[in-house]
Amino acid sequence: MDSNSPQEHQYVGIAASPGIAHGSVSLIREKALSVPKYKIDEGQMQGEVARFENALVETRKQIQKIQEAIRESLGEDEARIFDAHLLVLEDNALIEASVWAVGNRFIEALAKIDDEYLRERASDIRDVLRRLLSNLTGQTLEGVQGPDEKHVLVAHDIAPSDSASVNKEHLLGLVTDAGSKTSHTVIVARSMNIPAVVGLGDITQKVRPDDVVLVDGYEGRVIVNPSKDTLYKYGKLKDERTSIEERMLVLSKEPSLTQDGYQVQLMANIESAAEAKKAIELGADGVGLFRTEFLFMNARSLPTEEAHFRAYRDSVEAMKGLPIVIRTLDIGGDKVPSSSEYGMVEEANPFLGYRAIRYCLGHTDVFLTQLRAILRASAHGDIRIMYPMISGVFELQQANELLEQAKAELREEGVAFNEDIVSGAMIEIPSAAIACDTLLKGSSFFSIGTNDLIQYMMAVDRLNDRVAHLYEPTHPAVVRTLEMIVKAAKIGGISVSVCGEMAGDPVMVPLLVGLGIDTLSVTVGSLPNVKFVVQNMKIVEARDLAKEALSEPDASKTYERLLEFYNSLMAEFY
Ligand code: PEP
Ligand code: MG
Repeated sequence: MDSNSPQEHQYVGIAASPGIAHGSVSLIREKALSVPKYKIDEGQMQGEVARFENALVETRKQIQKIQEAIRESLGEDEARIFDAHLLVLEDNALIEASVWAVGNRFIEALAKIDDEYLRERASDIRDVLRRLLSNLTGQTLEGVQGPDEKHVLVAHDIAPSDSASVNKEHLLGLVTDAGSKTSHTVIVARSMNIPAVVGLGDITQKVRPDDVVLVDGYEGRVIVNPSKDTLYKYGKLKDERTSIEERMLVLSKEPSLTQDGYQVQLMANIESAAEAKKAIELGADGVGLFRTEFLFMNARSLPTEEAHFRAYRDSVEAMKGLPIVIRTLDIGGDKVPSSSEYGMVEEANPFLGYRAIRYCLGHTDVFLTQLRAILRASAHGDIRIMYPMISGVFELQQANELLEQAKAELREEGVAFNEDIVSGAMIEIPSAAIACDTLLKGSSFFSIGTNDLIQYMMAVDRLNDRVAHLYEPTHPAVVRTLEMIVKAAKIGGISVSVCGEMAGDPVMVPLLVGLGIDTLSVTVGSLPNVKFVVQNMKIVEARDLAKEALSEPDASKTYERLLEFYNSLMAEFY
């Protein structure tokens, strides 16, 4: 190495958006806006109030303009991010008191919360405060446009409103101190296909404006001033990944049939109509899990029947006749809406608490509103209903009775819906898994939520990284339970799917299919890779692997065996 070349340094953060980028740095360290403090006499008061109100109006206009730009370029879902900003502006507590002091108290309190989603709301408030303050004081906000040449943006955080002014044409990659997989910056980066690594802590203090960086969005690595060797290695990796992804994309349009002609239904997990469209483009056979919490999480008040209906109708229309399984509300656990209107209280063990169907059966008004909307949308396409967190037969019966009540109401009102709509139970609590035969009556299908089922079976909090090593999908207890559920479903003559993240892990696919799972429902981005595995394996091989897993006591051995099989499929693909 040339003694004058700068030293290579590697930093590891959160892999937020896949891909590899390499380019010069455009560094943005957050510019602090100064907050002038001065006394005013009574005569100036009216003028100051007017000035404040003008700043509010101006800020609102700016946010609406950005929202419009985002809506046009990225779509309705990304634009909805800014609804939260407009709500911050309307918050009386924020407006009536000293803006900066109260706002920062909100930010500090939110930043301490042990919940990724709520922590992200702090950046919404920070963003609105900065905009409001700049309009009040006439100070300009530092833009994040970046230079007019290709660059990697390195910033403390990219506020959602800033992402609208990013010069997409020249943006190669995104690197930030703050952020998580659910941060808004990441949502936007993913929808723009820009590699991103976030949550690096203080990367803005470690790079200099004249540095060059390499962003590895697959592994969450940022390499500052990469050496020739590193560049060579990543150059090869990038070519390989691009060619694999392109070939998988072509294959994803083909049916999901194994080499020996066995069909696996491949469905998508979605949260919006935009994702439904992407799922269809990627050759999904339908939607196996439509999470509906997003309608509640960002809202200040309970969504109306109309808001529910629009979301479901738009999604089912996007499916063009293919089925869509709508899961009824699964709030609680880690998904606690901020509004007090929901009647949720702090609990010592929220994952064992008032969650999902338990909440819905206690708030029948909320549940019936959702059920009515789903039923109305069922007149527009193939909709099925799924209840989360069913622990036993009583809850299933109650849920189905409320579904009948909603149907009766609509019939009486002369409103169209599909009389033959089917409903099924999620199997994600050990009691439901062990006694799943008792749930056959009242379920037209089972869908296994492995994310929760494994957490409850293994007593491992799925969000706690200190016990993450114990979260083992290949544990014999998990494998045997899955087999048991499949057997019961087959006896009952109903279909059984897996919609937890286990189904989206291509290494796990042969195990699940070999155990007799007939449908896999996975995040949209995983569709091509999962389909590739199905298309390249034989059902006989999958069944053999499942048999081995059922009798293997060591979870890591089963994992290694599955990984070896997956690698052999990939090796043939190269
Ligand atoms: C699951 O638990 O596997 C599941 C699909 O539901 P969620 O991740 O939304 O709890
Ligand atoms: Mg679940």
